Amino acid sequence: MGMYSPLLPSPGTSNLMPRLVMKFGGTSVADLDRIRNVARHVKREVDAGYDVAVVVSAMSGVTNQLVAWCKDASAMHDAREYDAVVATGEQVTSGLLAIVLQGMGVNARSWQGWQLPILTDGAHASARIQDVNGAELIKRFDELKQVAVIAGFQGKHEATGRITTLGRGGSDTSAVAMAAAIGAERCDIYTDVDGVYTTDPRVVPNARRLNKIAYEEMLELASLGAKVMQVRSVELGMLRNVRIFVRSSFVKPEDIDPKANFIGTLICDESEIMEQQTVTGIAFSKDEAQISIRRVQDKPGVAAAIFGPLADASINVDMIVQNVTADGATTDLTFTVPSADYERARVVIEKAKSTIGYERLDGATDVAKVSVIGIGMRSHAGVAAEAFKALAEQKINILAITTSEIKFSVLINGSQTDQAVRTLHALYGLDKG
Ligand code: ADP
Ligand code: ASP
Ligand code: MG
Repeated sequence: MGMYSPLLPSPGTSNLMPRLVMKFGGTSVADLDRIRNVARHVKREVDAGYDVAVVVSAMSGVTNQLVAWCKDASAMHDAREYDAVVATGEQVTSGLLAIVLQGMGVNARSWQGWQLPILTDGAHASARIQDVNGAELIKRFDELKQVAVIAGFQGKHEATGRITTLGRGGSDTSAVAMAAAIGAERCDIYTDVDGVYTTDPRVVPNARRLNKIAYEEMLELASLGAKVMQVRSVELGMLRNVRIFVRSSFVKPEDIDPKANFIGTLICDESEIMEQQTVTGIAFSKDEAQISIRRVQDKPGVAAAIFGPLADASINVDMIVQNVTADGATTDLTFTVPSADYERARVVIEKAKSTIGYERLDGATDVAKVSVIGIGMRSHAGVAAEAFKALAEQKINILAITTSEIKFSVLINGSQTDQAVRTLHALYGLDKG
């Protein structure tokens, strides 16, 4: 696959320097050597004439360790204290990168979320960004040519002044929000793959890199399991029209000419994509659990009696299937919830047993959701039907189905996930070569 053509006007052509956000994920800053490598990527763009805001994640594995410590300290820990703990990973990397950049002669300063500030709501552990103040950074770009190194993932709840975090993978969202705030011409997401692929390249070696993908498709891919971008970052990019370019930090910094073509995937408006395929990509998620309520009384109000209490408990129900049983008086109802909520969901349904009226509750956590995504499905019929046939030929049983305008999902046995993904990947001609 060829290189992508110039992304935007070349830098350094006006008095006002173009601005760039460069985000580096955990594996890209995993140790000091990698941080030095990142610094060389940053220097390259500074030398090319960009004012740069860098957003960094915690070093690979650090956030997992911090989360594990919180859980170990107390299973029912206070989310405000969880945030105080897990936000530290990014603080370390931001300081280290600033030190390394300074050592290379690049004027750089680190910034924590609370210092800028990046203001969020008060939903600790999964806070939403409300406002980003880029004024001080812009002043320093103009007056000092100073690179900003921002700790991703964290913000501040204005009302309480406390540190918040944005949910796992949240540095992507910090980066896109930063790009919108400073009017960056692009938000580069550097990671351990050189772009967005037709499916997870770790599972399907035959997956192909996409040169471009529409915001809406990326949003579905991310929501349905592809962890390459946090869902909210794509939402924000779409809303604020930020051009997001996913690329690899493992390419040698010196091998990239910032003024020429470079390899990666541009997430952009669908109008920019010329050759729209029917199917763009396949996502999968093993974090699903299935609950079946057997022999529910088939009468008005029963769905409300089941899903009302689940909603009250903030449990997200995804797929729902209802079957009428042979007696005609009762029905079987199957639905899925995130596997993290499985036990809680069972308790909620058992508590409501007398109002719902059912015979038995069955459940399984060894299920997976495989989803096929593509804007082209809007205008092509029969795309899902082909999948059902191909899966049947592979003896993969479908437990539930959902469809919407640009995607459909099937729930299957978890042990058949890779086989199902590979089958569908080949079926829609997404294989490389
Ligand atoms: P970072 O630490 O840089 O934020 P992540 O681990 O969050 O990186 O995301 C990158 C990973 O996402 C890749 O290593 C890849 O295994 C996974 N991934 C899942 N689906 C896709 C996809 N469709 N395209 C590219 N990568 C994907
Ligand atoms: N360090 C955080 C995480 O691991 C945020 C991020 O990397 O985007 O979830
Ligand atoms: Mg990530």
